[in-house]
Amino acid sequence: MSNSLFSLPPLPYAADALEPFIDKATMEIHHGKHHAAYVTNLNKAVENTDLAGKSLEDMISSISKYPAAVRNNGGGHYNHSMFWNIMAAQGHELPHGKLDDAINSAFGSFDSFKEKFAAAAMGRFGSGWAWLILKNEKLEITSTPNQDNPLMDVADVKGFPILGIDVWEHAYYLKYQNRRADYITAWWNVVNWDAVLARFNNKK
Ligand code: MN
Repeated sequence: MSNSLFSLPPLPYAADALEPFIDKATMEIHHGKHHAAYVTNLNKAVENTDLAGKSLEDMISSISKYPAAVRNNGGGHYNHSMFWNIMAAQGHELPHGKLDDAINSAFGSFDSFKEKFAAAAMGRFGSGWAWLILKNEKLEITSTPNQDNPLMDVADVKGFPILGIDVWEHAYYLKYQNRRADYITAWWNVVNWDAVLARFNNKK
C-alpha cells in the first residue's frame, strides 16, 4: 500500500454555509462523494507509474500525453478544489479592485459579463464547466466538457481559470432538478469575489 499522493481538501466552510442557494445535501455528496472519488481514482491512476510525484498542474498542462483516467480525475480534483474556494457564504457582492476594471473593459459591464458567463454555462451541453479565464492578460469566457479545464493542452481556449461553475447535474439536481438556469442565477449569490480577485492577482 503506497502513500496517497493526493488528498481531499476539507471544505473551507460548513456544508450548509451556502444555503439556501446551494443546499447542504448537495454539498455533502458533491464534496464527500464526487470530489473524494476523483481523488481516489487519480491516486489509483498514477500510483506505480512514472506520474507518481508529478504535480497536478504539470500533469494538467500536458494532459494529452496521459491516460483518460488521469485527465478525468486529475481535472476533477483540480476543478473542485478551485470550486469550493471561489464560493463563500459572505463574499463580496461584486468584483472589486483591478478585477472590476478588467471585467468592465472585457465585457462592458458586470451585468453583461454575468449574462455572457451564464450563456456559456447554459450552452455547455451535458456535463462540464464554464470559466472566466485570464488569457494574454485579458479576461475571456469559455467552457469545457466533462472535467477538462482551460489549463489543459487539449482545451479549445486556453488560459488561467479565475472563476468556474460546475454544471454537471450532480452540482444542482437535488435542489433544482433540470433547472440549470435557476442554479446559475442562485450561484452568483455565493461567489467569493475576494478569492476570484486573489486568483486574478496571482496570475496578473
Ligand atoms: Mn462536480
